[in-house]
Amino acid sequence: MERWIDPAQAARWCASADERGLAVGFVPTMGALHEGHLELVRRAARENDAALVSVFVNPLQFNDPADFERYPRDFDGDAAQLEAVGCTAVFTGDTTGFFGTADLARVPRADPGPAARGLEGEHRPGHFEGVATIVRRLFQIVRPTRAYFGEKDFQQTLVVRHIARALGYPEVVVCPTSREPSGLARSSRNTRLDELERARAAAISAGLAEAQRAWRAGERDPAALEAVLAASLARAGIEPEYAAVRDPHHWTGRERPAGPLEQAQALVAARIGAVRLIDNLRLDGPLLRREVVS
Ligand code: AMP
Repeated sequence: MERWIDPAQAARWCASADERGLAVGFVPTMGALHEGHLELVRRAARENDAALVSVFVNPLQFNDPADFERYPRDFDGDAAQLEAVGCTAVFTGDTTGFFGTADLARVPRADPGPAARGLEGEHRPGHFEGVATIVRRLFQIVRPTRAYFGEKDFQQTLVVRHIARALGYPEVVVCPTSREPSGLARSSRNTRLDELERARAAAISAGLAEAQRAWRAGERDPAALEAVLAASLARAGIEPEYAAVRDPHHWTGRERPAGPLEQAQALVAARIGAVRLIDNLRLDGPLLRREVVS
């Protein structure tokens, strides 16, 4: 596996891969890799001639500087895990390497599009503009055939599709959320949860599963589905930043869509102790299975 510490090296390799007609699958990450990331990389390796991974804790997408400082970083550990799952090359770099300047104020921002409105966009001002800016830059560096993202960050997948549409490439592949046996969505931030917090955090996916059961029992009204979700979180003592139901194909931002819905995505953000977690579930999708831990 190749390892590059300068995005320019990745750009050179990718240009030559393009000339050779290789299909390149690309997985952008912020590192601190876990099984969820590795599933994306395995799939990228399976479906392409080469699988490339970037590791960059992008300062532009952190609205909270303390969260940026605390974000776990372990490039050598990440590289070792990637080597084991068939990754062709991993690259990282600093702000100058990615954006041509260390002065973040001078980096031209990309427009994240209409899906940046509401929920994460509202609770993390500037977050999706930062995501759109780094994703556009990464796509320009790698020019991938396919790029792989996790449904775990559902609203982000809509922003990424907006960027890919504007550029005309790559094909965006959205992969299912990888979960721990308790149902807890895997996240680099989970390493900061203590044992009790980890148990409480599992109540987020339990709430989503309960909303899914209501959907399967025939409930189609978004307000009623949100009420099921909110009640389930409240029973676990979780006061979410938001617990919302949206139509995944018609993003309505802050507004709850008018029901009844034909398809539905339930989305939650909540603080467990000092850690902010997000999760979501397609209510009309595959059943969320979880081992109940008491
Ligand atoms: P991050 O390093 O958190 O920016 O994530 C990099 C990519 O991995 C994004 O496309 C995420 O959506 C995806 N990802 C993170 N956690 C999971 C998970 N539990 N399941 C599936 N994809 C994930």
